[in-house]
Parts: sequence; C-alpha cells; structure tokens
Amino acid sequence: MATCPRCDHQGVIQLVRIKKLGQVVNVCEECDALWLTELKETPVYGTDFVDFSSYLEEHGIPVDEAEWEQVK
Ligand SMILES: [Zn+2]
Repeated sequence: MATCPRCDHQGVIQLVRIKKLGQVVNVCEECDALWLTELKETPVYGTDFVDFSSYLEEHGIPVDEAEWEQVK
C-alpha cells in the first residue's frame, strides 16, 4: 500500500476515477494531494502534485463527491 510523501506518509494513496474526465488519478486520502508524477520525497506543488479540489476546478468540475469514485 503506497503512502503519501507530501503529508509525511500519514495518508494512503487511493485510486480515484474522475467520471467526467474518465481519468484515474492517485489521490491521498489524508491531504488530498493529487499526484501528477510518481510519488517522491519533497514534491513540488504544481509539478509533482496539486490539490484534488484545484484540479477539479481547473477542469470545470464541481467539487462534489458524485463527480468521482474510488477505484480501490
Ligand atoms: Zn498526503
């Protein structure tokens, strides 16, 4: 089980499918980091990860649980 370096491994990485984008992304259950790259120590915001809600907003998707589902 992968844990998230952004929050010092407090959270587990979950696979989340964003329904409107048909995209499966890695999101930390604890800090809501959406990973754009492989998990790495000392990640850079905007390059390695962004906030899940910001990512949704960028794509014009409401921050509403109905918009995504956990894959596993
Ligand atoms: Zn995290």
